[in-house]
Amino acid sequence: MKEINTSEFEKEVLQDERVILDFYSTECPPCEALASKFEDLSHLYGSDIKFLKIFRQGNRELADKLGVKSSPTLLFFSNGKEMASRLTGGIKRSDIIRNLDSMLPPERVKGIKSQIKPSVSEFDVIILGAGPGGLTAGLYLCQSKINTVLIDIALPGGHVSTTHEVSNYPGFIEPQAGYMLSHSMSEQTKLCGTIYKVAVDITKVDLEKKEVVIDEYETVKAKRIIIATGTTPNLTGAPGEKELKGKGISYCATCDAKYYNDKEVLVIGGGNSAVEESEYITRFVKKLTIVHQFDKLTANKQAQDKVLSNPKISILFDNEPRAFVKDGEKIVTEIENVKTKERQKLVSDGVFIFIGMKPNIELFRDKLELDKWGYIKTDEDMRTSIKGVYAVGDVISKKYRQITTAVADGTIAAMAIAKESD
Ligand SMILES: Cc1cc2nc3c(=O)[nH]c(=O)nc-3n(C[C@H](O)[C@H](O)[C@H](O)COP(=O)(O)OP(=O)(O)OC[C@H]3O[C@@H](n4cnc5c(N)ncnc54)[C@H](O)[C@@H]3O)c2cc1C
Repeated sequence: MKEINTSEFEKEVLQDERVILDFYSTECPPCEALASKFEDLSHLYGSDIKFLKIFRQGNRELADKLGVKSSPTLLFFSNGKEMASRLTGGIKRSDIIRNLDSMLPPERVKGIKSQIKPSVSEFDVIILGAGPGGLTAGLYLCQSKINTVLIDIALPGGHVSTTHEVSNYPGFIEPQAGYMLSHSMSEQTKLCGTIYKVAVDITKVDLEKKEVVIDEYETVKAKRIIIATGTTPNLTGAPGEKELKGKGISYCATCDAKYYNDKEVLVIGGGNSAVEESEYITRFVKKLTIVHQFDKLTANKQAQDKVLSNPKISILFDNEPRAFVKDGEKIVTEIENVKTKERQKLVSDGVFIFIGMKPNIELFRDKLELDKWGYIKTDEDMRTSIKGVYAVGDVISKKYRQITTAVADGTIAAMAIAKESD
């Protein structure tokens, strides 16, 4: 592996047969997360493909010329031409391998793969998920001198890192940008000494044996596991939804309703959470329209009565969203009547989607006792039905899912483990 600068680009990159080039920056957590994977893969693929690094801040003009807009960015070149797709952000080992393999003949790829040696590492505690719950557990365990590894399929931070502003996390007078709050949480835990394995592929989780296999070849073992994998909101799947998440489309009323004072919003959904959250949102907005796919609400009677008698709320039954488009500060939602197939466009200041959340437990679903909605049941110390396995944060069965409650759960699990380890 070699570090180059702009003046060497022509010779080292464009005149070589096969090159992978890493544009990195300092004070860049995703760059730190990539560094060990890049180094490791350079030992494996280094005799076939040249591994180069270039400091983005020091070679800004070249970065601009190549259209590199974020760090890290991995570029792949073959005989002077860029090939394969660029990788950026929380880059996974498997994505780099896919691109590297595409630059080599299949028989050579086979040969390289046969050299991979599986590795095993051991810790006291594995934490799965580096959102507020996992990061807090990691901090407390580390401060108790308990050898802990935090494993995440993405970069640390969880939902907070993609939340526009957080104004209800104690200790900050002004609202905090979500990515800054999650960055501070993550750095605090990392500086304490907790080991991070992030942006990895998790291939297997064995809760009984306390073993997690990451990136296919690395087995991480521990005496205990804390599950802190959070939830994923169900999406409508309509075009534009993913792009406008956090930019006018929200999945959290407590978090975002206050930004719509005296405005007009849409709520998609008609179950308990849609109806209860709608009632809450009307404390702020002047008009709220519920768009629901069936001909009656599916929430409980008491909640229904409240919204049906709320003068700020109107309901469009039998309709589903078909597309979301940003138009200046407004969101245009195209809806379709599922019976008549008629379409219409609704203009609002924001859209809230409450069509359910799902706990992230696919890899270990069958092994744990769950509530009827699929969330993990715990006792007051966050112990699950499997000995030595704890669960914290949004993934557990509970009433209120917020940063503060996830942080509290992480604290409790870590303190319970520290006490057991005395
Ligand atoms: C859009 C939005 C805005 C919000 N705004 C606020 C707010 O303003 N204030 C507030 O208090 N709360 C807010 N919330 C709620 C808050 O973000 C959550 O309650 C909190 O993040 C839960 O923390 P957690 O650690 O349990 O899970 P998460 O934050 O969801 O973190 C889970 C982590 O686990 C990782 N993961 C998932 N699956 C796996 C796996 N199989 N293996 C390993 N890792 C995995 C994920 O990549 C993620 O990093 C908001 C939620 C959303 C969706």
